[in-house]
Amino acid sequence: MYILRISNISKKFKIDDNKERIALDRMSLMFPSNGLISIVGKSGSGKSTLLNILSLMDEPTNGVVYYMNKRMDRWNNRQKEKYRNKEIGMIFQHYHLLENETVLFNIMLPALIGGKSVKEAEIAAKNLLKSIDFKEYLYDQKCADLSGGEKERVAILRALINDPKIVFADEPTGALDEKNSYLVMDILKKISKDRLVILVSHNMSLVEQYADEIIHIKDGHIEKIEDKEVVTDQSNASDGKGKTIKSSKWVSLLTKSNFKRRLKRNIVSISSLIIGLVSSMLIIGFSNGSKTSVQNKSYRQFNYGVSTFYKETKQEIPGSKMSLVQMSKINEEEMTLLNDYLSVFIVEPNTDALLPSCPTIKCGEEKLEELTYQPIYSFEKQYVDPSLVINGYVPQVDNPFEVVINQKAYSYLKSKFNSEPIGLEFTVHSDFEYHYYTNNDFNPVITDYFIYDKSVHIVGVVDDFNFLSTPKMYYSYSSFKEYLEESLLNNLSSYLNEDISWYDRISTCDNSDTISSYSNRLFLKDISNIPILKEYISFLSEPYKIDCLAISISDTLFDLMDAATMGMELFLIIALAGTALILGIISFSSYSEDKKTSAILTCLGANRKSIFSIYARENFLVGGVALIASFALSPLLAWLANLIIKNITTFENIIRIPFLSFMNVPLLFPLIIILGTLVIALLATYIPLMFSKKISPREELMDE
Ligand code: ADP
Ligand code: MG
Repeated sequence: MYILRISNISKKFKIDDNKERIALDRMSLMFPSNGLISIVGKSGSGKSTLLNILSLMDEPTNGVVYYMNKRMDRWNNRQKEKYRNKEIGMIFQHYHLLENETVLFNIMLPALIGGKSVKEAEIAAKNLLKSIDFKEYLYDQKCADLSGGEKERVAILRALINDPKIVFADEPTGALDEKNSYLVMDILKKISKDRLVILVSHNMSLVEQYADEIIHIKDGHIEKIEDKEVVTDQSNASDGKGKTIKSSKWVSLLTKSNFKRRLKRNIVSISSLIIGLVSSMLIIGFSNGSKTSVQNKSYRQFNYGVSTFYKETKQEIPGSKMSLVQMSKINEEEMTLLNDYLSVFIVEPNTDALLPSCPTIKCGEEKLEELTYQPIYSFEKQYVDPSLVINGYVPQVDNPFEVVINQKAYSYLKSKFNSEPIGLEFTVHSDFEYHYYTNNDFNPVITDYFIYDKSVHIVGVVDDFNFLSTPKMYYSYSSFKEYLEESLLNNLSSYLNEDISWYDRISTCDNSDTISSYSNRLFLKDISNIPILKEYISFLSEPYKIDCLAISISDTLFDLMDAATMGMELFLIIALAGTALILGIISFSSYSEDKKTSAILTCLGANRKSIFSIYARENFLVGGVALIASFALSPLLAWLANLIIKNITTFENIIRIPFLSFMNVPLLFPLIIILGTLVIALLATYIPLMFSKKISPREELMDE
């Protein structure tokens, strides 16, 4: 019985677009199931091509190869893998060992790929090593450190470990000296007693001495066949079917060894992934935490409840695209109509004309121009947030002498006077010249002077949020109102013959009167309504408007945060894409570097999936380590960043990584991060595989 038979095999190679080279031309041959059969011929005659076809490293252009009377071209991948792993062994001139692995591992590898346990494979490998008296201290040596003769012998043992029926050897002695050549030939001769050994060689003297049969090839044809000895057929071989080859231990062994070998590169991958993951987590933490943080902080404004209320009328200018916008205070009638809207407020006239926010404030002879003077309706507890007081106290009873300052003013005054600001005396001065227009031609204008001169002292400091950080002094509007009610416009009173106070005048004046400041003032009746104030204001329809400084400050801040978050999210995409790219490049370079290893593994019968999984596992290992490090690092960095940000801006917990609950789904965030890493690891694995063409073992292992 013939174990291997080829019938009319031709092999053509395309060289250029239209030229082809015929390497084998309608060749037919039969091989017995044991003996040493040698193929000889000049370089380029087609010897290697024939061997490649027989060993399934290449396919013929025409013709059929039979292994134990089965057509090999009809085999599926699994049958081909099994043939490579169990039925044949390959020995190359250039050894093609896994140079970074040990002698023992290289020999064990086909057994491991074939599904044997590590223990079984190790025993078998050691037995083989002993049978050729291989030096024991070399067992655990890396193959890269062996001599040529030693490597060739390791390659032979690797070919034998699964006890194959055929051994192919392409110029196994080509790189060896005479002594080593004889050693190798002795082994081949010995093993050919009970299996077929097909040897390609151009060393005629060796071939003459050892071969049972010599096949001479010339230009892809068989020139002649020399029978040296009668080859007896001892075949009792089974066919190519059997249990399937599973990937197992060897994949993880190789993954581990690759990971260690490429440790530096993997550390770069891990670091780049950590940077990508941690910055994603921090950015998401920022967009999650900043809104709440800003909101909480922006409520903490001492004069949050103070706003101006006015009517804004637009007047088209004929022939122009511009229009005239006019502000005016709201009259009694409109007030009554808007009563429902205004129920949460105390409505007062705007007294800015009489006491502007920048009056003359002096301490001794020193003028304090930076300080602004701001009304609070009252210091009573429903109008102010007592938790903001950090120093001194808020006046118990409203009075015109006691004022409260914010922290910015505190530090400003402290550095200016080099002493404790609480208790310091100030004078506040403002004046206003008021003209009342009569219809009386003799007395058309009545002029009155408003002069406000108060000495005040600081009793407390509040820590309120202040985006623009202006030093502020807060006074009680109620007390000021009392003062306005008591002081009269002397000239107007005597002209009209009744007592007219400044408060009367400002409340009842005309819409166009400058004393009205063209607006009213609203004070929130209850400080606990702050969170709804914003919504409340937006209910109001044109032309009425409420301006709340506190709200515009927080709105500006929200816009700023939104812009920053958007910018950061863009950065996040770039960071992730960059990370995936770096990982892809690194994994691509690892893969390209190891193409030869993949080719060797293919020749040893490993399936593509297992070879692929070595790289996939390495990337997942990188991903896993980076993931754990990122989960540990990001809360630490967030805490540090929050600490720094708090010191600079007073915002608390601006980065809040939503580990526990994200978009109201518990544990969604860690899940997303894990999935994201998985996707990156998969991309890093698949993209290089997609871009590199399918590995051709024949090309990778072509003898140079
Ligand atoms: P050898 O007897 O030296 O081993 P080969 O079988 O390697 O010869 O080559 C036989 C012929 O086929 C040669 O002419 C060689 O140039 C050609 N050949 C082999 N492989 C290829 C290839 N991949 N592409 C093109 N030509 C090839
Ligand atoms: Mg060759």
